[in-house]
Amino acid sequence: MQTDTLQTVGHFINGEVVVDESNTQVVYNPSTGEVSKQVSLGGAKTIEEAVAAAKAAFPQWRNTPPIKRARVMFKFKELLEKNADTICRLIGEEHGKIVHDAAGELQRGIENVEYACGAPELLKGEHTRNVGPDIDSWSEFHPLGVVAGITPFNFPVMVPLWMFPMAIVCGNTFILKPSERDPSSTLYLAQLMKEAGLPDGVLNVVNGGKDAVDAILEHKDIQAVSFVGSTPIAEYIYTTATANGKRCQALGGAKNHAIVMPDADLDNVVNSLLGAAFGSSGERCMALSVAVAVGDEIADKMIASLTEAMAKLKFGVHSDKGNDFGPVITAEHKGKILGHIESAKAQGAKVLVDGSAAAPEGFENGFFVGPTLIDGVQKDMSSYQAEIFGPVLQVLRVNTMAEAMQLINDHEYGNGTCIYTRDGEAARYFADNIQVGMVGINIPLPVPVAYQSFGGWKRSLFGDLFMYGPDGVRFFTRRKTITQRWPSSEIREAAQFSMPTLN
Ligand code: NAD
Repeated sequence: MQTDTLQTVGHFINGEVVVDESNTQVVYNPSTGEVSKQVSLGGAKTIEEAVAAAKAAFPQWRNTPPIKRARVMFKFKELLEKNADTICRLIGEEHGKIVHDAAGELQRGIENVEYACGAPELLKGEHTRNVGPDIDSWSEFHPLGVVAGITPFNFPVMVPLWMFPMAIVCGNTFILKPSERDPSSTLYLAQLMKEAGLPDGVLNVVNGGKDAVDAILEHKDIQAVSFVGSTPIAEYIYTTATANGKRCQALGGAKNHAIVMPDADLDNVVNSLLGAAFGSSGERCMALSVAVAVGDEIADKMIASLTEAMAKLKFGVHSDKGNDFGPVITAEHKGKILGHIESAKAQGAKVLVDGSAAAPEGFENGFFVGPTLIDGVQKDMSSYQAEIFGPVLQVLRVNTMAEAMQLINDHEYGNGTCIYTRDGEAARYFADNIQVGMVGINIPLPVPVAYQSFGGWKRSLFGDLFMYGPDGVRFFTRRKTITQRWPSSEIREAAQFSMPTLN
C-alpha cells in the first residue's frame, strides 16, 4: 500500500502536534473499507517526551486555583459545542457511527466536562473544628502528579472525556493514549483544550499500541492509570500497573442481559432491544446482547415482533442521518463477529435473521454486518460466553426469573443488565440481588449520568473505584489530613505515651 500521500495523525506533546512517520499504522474508513489516513505509533521515547512535558507543567498547574482550572473547562465545553459538527464527522469517518449517535456520544462527554466545571466545590475538602482542645482537623484532596488514560475505539470522544477533564481539573497533568484505530477525533479534543486556554504540557496525547501502553505502565513518574477496553487487556493493565506501584482502574468487556418477564410491555421491550442491541452496531460496552425470555409464550411473541421490526432497520454510511447504525470497526472485527454467528449455528442455535452477508448498496466493501437474531442459545455455547461486540442479539429461554438471574450471576462479566416487567416487587428483588454494577428497570442502557459514576462488577472492572463522577474525583486525588492546634505557645503538655483520646 502506498502511504506516502496519506495524512498522518500525530501526537500532541507540550501543546504541539508532533507528526512522526518512523512508525505508522493505517486508519480505515469502515463505511468504505478504504484506508483514509495513517497514525504515528509512539513508543518509549514518545512517552518519555510526553512525561517530561507533563512533569514540567505540573507544579504550576497544581497551584493554579481550582476556579481558574474550571474556567478552562467552561471554555472547553463551549468549544466542544461550537465544533460539534467537526467532531461528529471525525468520529463517523473513522469509527463509522451514524452522525446522530456520534452527537449522543459527544453530549454524554460534554456532561462530564460540565461536572468537572464544579471543581471548586468538588475539591473543597472536609473540615472539623475542635476535634480536641483548640484542635481542628481537615482533609484536603491533592492531585497525584502525572497520570495517564488509555482508551478504546468504540467511544473515541466520550471515554477520553470521562478521564482527562476530571484529572486535569483536579490539578494533575495527563497523558492520553487513544485507540490507534480511530485517533483523529481524540487528537482534536486536545487541540480544543489548548484553544480553551490550557497551558502547554498539561494534556498530552501519544498515539500507539502495545509499545506506548507498556511504556506508560513502566514509567516511574506516572502515578495512576485509568483504562477502558477489553477484559484481557484490562486485566493485564491492572496487574502490571499495580505491580509497578501505580493506582489503577481498568474497565473491561461485557455481556449485558435483558430479562423479559411474562408481564412485560412488549412494544417497549422490542423498541428497547432494537436500539440497545443494534445501535452503534452493538459496539457499546453497555449494548444489550442477550435477551432472556421467561417462558415460551413471551419468547415467541418477542421474536415475532423483533423479526418484523428488524426487517425495517437501516444500516449504512455514517453521514446519512436516516441510517440506524453503521459498519463495525475493521474487517478483522467483522470476521470475528461472523465467526460467532457460525459457531452458534454449529453448536445448535437457530439463526433466525442472519446479517452475515448483508451490505448496503454502494458500500459493498465497507465492514458491515446486518442485524442478526439468534434463538435457542444455550449457556455453554461459545457465542454466549464471549463478548461479540457486533449487531447480534441472542435469545435464551428459561422458565423462571430465578433461572434468568442465575445465568446473569454466573456470567464472567457484570457490567450492565436490565429487567422488563410491570411487577415492582420482582424489579426490586432483581436490583437487590443481581451481581452487576449498572442495573436498569425497564431501561435498556442504564449508563449513569456524569454526576454519578460508571463501572461494572466481576471481570468488567479491575480496581476499586468507578469511572467519572464522585469516584473520578477520588481516583484522581490523594487525601491529606491535617490536624493542628492553635495557640501553640500556651500548651505545656506532659509527654503522653498512651494513644491520644478525649477521655
Ligand atoms: P482493546 O482492549 O483492544 O483496546 C483498548 C486499548 O488498549 C487501546 O488503546 C489499545 O491500543 C490498547 N491495547 C490493545 N491491545 C493491547 C495490548 N496487547 N497491550 C497493551 N495495550 C493494548 O479494546 P477495543 O477493541 O479498543 O474496545 C472494545 C472493548 O472495550 C470491548 O471489550 C468493550 O466492552 C470495552 N469497553 C468497555 C467499556 C467499559 O466502560 N467497561 C467502555 C467501552 C468499551
